[in-house]
Amino acid sequence: MAEKILVLGEVKNGDLRSVSFEAAAAAKKAAPNAEIVGAVLGDDVTGLAKKMIHHGADRAIAVNAPELKNYTTDAYQQAIMQVLEEENPSGIVMGHTALGKDLAPRIAVRKGLALISDIVSLEQQNGELLCTRPIYSGKAFEKRKPKDGHFFLTIRPNNIQALEVDENRDGEVRSVTPDIKDIRTVIKDIAKKAATGVDLSEAKVVVAGGRGVKGPEGFELLQELADVFGGAVGASRGACDADYCDYSLQIGQTGKVVTPDLYIAAGISGAIQHLAGMSNSKVIVAINKDPEAPIFDIADYGIVGDLFDVIPVLIEELKKE
Ligand code: FAD
Repeated sequence: MAEKILVLGEVKNGDLRSVSFEAAAAAKKAAPNAEIVGAVLGDDVTGLAKKMIHHGADRAIAVNAPELKNYTTDAYQQAIMQVLEEENPSGIVMGHTALGKDLAPRIAVRKGLALISDIVSLEQQNGELLCTRPIYSGKAFEKRKPKDGHFFLTIRPNNIQALEVDENRDGEVRSVTPDIKDIRTVIKDIAKKAATGVDLSEAKVVVAGGRGVKGPEGFELLQELADVFGGAVGASRGACDADYCDYSLQIGQTGKVVTPDLYIAAGISGAIQHLAGMSNSKVIVAINKDPEAPIFDIADYGIVGDLFDVIPVLIEELKKE
């Protein structure tokens, strides 16, 4: 039987997260000659499943059931296990997101597959797949290869380039209804935080503030700068602990891990726990009034100065472009 890779498309706020398309590209890199099958889970996702084909899948499966409207471990696990029974793929790829982190190990253990998680890049070397993943909170990288051609990979968002979208690309979209029972958790209500627009973990530009931002008003200034780029605002734990902003913005070892094209750290000292969440950003700009601040050790560009003087000038200049 020809090689086949199953790629899980992840739905958020009624659309596919971009990590779904990055996962399709990763699958192509991992097994260039394999058939790529996109699978999207939800209560009415046939339209979204088609998008997986536009982004490189050869065909797609829309796994529709009312129980899949919101994520629960039990329902998603049962649905995916049924798809895997039917399809019997030689590889599985999904995002290293909150959902992927919860689901992937459960599926891996049930299928007896070795999971290589949090991959930031993949390459073929002498006919073998090599997956690179950060270890020790991003201080080192290791390369792993799947043992016997079968693999299960989760990929870190924003690290693997999605394939170019082709809306004319055709492929079969099959709708299936899984048999789901015995869900042990019931979602009664979803209390949403006020939407800030751009998803922090997928933003191309992140403007993050620390204790140096001094208060919630300072974060409004950071938001203004982020808006100029169409980016998102993040924070250090220092800023979250001081109640300058919500913990959902925290970046670092105990917060979110981000890999934007541009990371601007304003009033952040650069503690090791913060670096764990952002040191793989492509370009890092630090604004700090202390020239000895450790953040400058990893910054590509450093501005020694008061952020309240520097950021308004940056906004003004950037708006001119
Ligand atoms: P500070 O260290 O107080 O730095 C503030 C900086 O702002 C200083 O460098 C100062 O020079 C500068 N500054 C002040 N005023 C201005 C101004 N007007 N203009 C420009 N610069 C100015 N931290 C995280 O961020 N994320 C984590 O996930 C995380 N997890 C942790 C887990 C554990 C187990 C532990 C023990 C700690 C963790 N921490 C984490 C906390 C971390 O150790 C630091 O305490 C925290 O990152 C410091 O935040 P900060 O840089 O905002 O504050």
